[in-house]
Amino acid sequence: MTDYRPSKRIIVTGAGSGIGRASAMAFARQGDTIGLLGRTEDELRKVAEEVEQLGGTAEILVADVSDAKAMSSAIRQFSERDGLHVMVVNAGINGVWAPIADLKPDEWDKTIAVNLRGSYLSIHFAVPYLRKSAKSAIVVISSINGTRTFTSAGASAYAATKAAQVALVKQLAVELAGDRIRINAVCPGAIETSIENNTTRRDTESVEVPVEFPDGDIPLTGGKSGKASEVASVVAFLASDAARHVTGSVIFVDGAQSLIR
Ligand code: NAP
Repeated sequence: MTDYRPSKRIIVTGAGSGIGRASAMAFARQGDTIGLLGRTEDELRKVAEEVEQLGGTAEILVADVSDAKAMSSAIRQFSERDGLHVMVVNAGINGVWAPIADLKPDEWDKTIAVNLRGSYLSIHFAVPYLRKSAKSAIVVISSINGTRTFTSAGASAYAATKAAQVALVKQLAVELAGDRIRINAVCPGAIETSIENNTTRRDTESVEVPVEFPDGDIPLTGGKSGKASEVASVVAFLASDAARHVTGSVIFVDGAQSLIR
C-alpha cells in the first residue's frame, strides 16, 4: 500500500540558489506547489523550470524579504486563494564580516534587516494563512554561527541574527502551538552554496583565533562541506507530517563541525 500524501502549498524564501533552491527541489519531488520568493527574477525562473521538471508546480514571487509591503503582497498573492501550508524562512546573507569597531552602522543594519527583520516579516505575514490550514509548519534556516560556534572572525552581526532566529523559533513554538502551527530551526554548518557572493570580509585576520584542524574541521566528511540537498532533506522532514510532534526544536546539519570549533 502506498501512503497518500496530499500535495502542499509552500513558500520558500531565497529560493533562487543554494539551500532555498534545494528545498524547492525536495518539495517538487513530492508534487507540491512552491512559491519561489527572492529578489532575482531570472534565477527564480530557472528554479521554476527545474521544479516543473521534477513534478512540482512553481509560482514566482519577486520580493525583498526586508520590505514589508513587498512581503505582504507576495505572501497574499500566493496564499489568498488556495492557502499556505508551509513557510520556509531561508533567505539570508553573510553581509559584512569585520572587527566590531570597524563594522559600520549601515552594514550592521543591512544584515539585521535581511536575516532578522526578513524572518519576522516572512512569519508575520504567513501566520494568518498557516492558521487556516491543517498540519501547517514553519522551518527557519539559522546556522551553527551564533548558536554553537563563535569562531567566524568578524561575523558578529550575522551570528546575532542567527542566534535571534533560534530564540524566535522557541518563543513562537509556544505561541503558535494553540494554532497547531509547528516551527523549527535548522542549523547548517559549512554548505556549498553561493553565500560567499553575499560576504564581504574586512580585516578579519586581526580578530581571528588561530586554530588548526589538520584533518579538516568537519569530522564526518574529513573537512568536506555539506551539500544544499543534505539540508533540504531535513527541511522536508520538518515540514512533513513525520515531524508532527516536533516543534521548537533545533537540528544541526553540520557533520559535527560545530562540536569541535
Ligand atoms: P545563497 O546561495 O546565497 O542563497 C541565499 C538566497 O537568498 C539567494 O537566492 C538570494 O537571492 C536570497 N536573498 C538574499 N537576500 C535577499 C533578500 N533581501 N530578499 C529576498 N531574497 C534574498 O546562500 P545559502 O547558503 O543557500 O543561504 C541560505 C540560508 O542558509 C541563509 O539564511 C544562510 O544564513 C543559511 N546558512 C548557510 C550556510 C552555508 O554554509 N551556505 C551555513 C549556515 C547557514 P538574491 O540575492 O538574488 O535575492
